[in-house]
Amino acid sequence: MTRVLVVEDDPQLVRALVINLQARHYGVDAAPDGATALRLAAARQPDVVLLDLGLPDMDGVDIIKGLRGWSRVPILVLSARQASDEKVAALDAGADDYITKPFSMNELLARLRAAVRRTEDNTAAPETTLVETEDFSIDLLAKKAVRGGRDVRLTPTEWHLLEILVTNPGRLITQKHLLQEVWGVSQSNKTNYLRVYMAQLRRKLEKDPSHPHYLITEPGMGYRFEG
Ligand code: CA
Repeated sequence: MTRVLVVEDDPQLVRALVINLQARHYGVDAAPDGATALRLAAARQPDVVLLDLGLPDMDGVDIIKGLRGWSRVPILVLSARQASDEKVAALDAGADDYITKPFSMNELLARLRAAVRRTEDNTAAPETTLVETEDFSIDLLAKKAVRGGRDVRLTPTEWHLLEILVTNPGRLITQKHLLQEVWGVSQSNKTNYLRVYMAQLRRKLEKDPSHPHYLITEPGMGYRFEG
């Protein structure tokens, strides 16, 4: 049974989440504040954490840092609309994904399944070597990209960027993370690098680069590869 830890101080939302999750045979623990959340996470070893960032006793980002000190459990952040700085801080602290309130239960369940599946994929097959889409394929081992039967030439920087995205399918990767990994810088004023290189990758890989299907921009936050 997949165990979910719900960290949320809104009792109505907790109730809705518990009912929906239990109906789908998840095991559910609920914590109304950060202190309880950290205690339950250690005691119950959940498979995934749903974390509201606005809690009465602690900043949600501190809870993520606390969990990441000893656990790689997937963390799906529940966050209020318009709080994109908060979401970015949560992702940079080690959250795996976020969903904006108000959300549909179906979307939440889909994100939850994806988060759990990623950890299962990771343990089953640590090395994904071939990423295939309808329009192109990426061989990570041979460092080769093919589109329409022809090799696509990528620069080392483009390759590095692409590799990070395609090895985290469906997952939002923050601008800060990409800048640090690829360019070794963390200044947010360097996001123009990212825009330029992402545009190049789209030109080389996407069928319609101005309406990308695979290399998706999350405005103000980062990028996501949808396989
Ligand atoms: Ca709250």
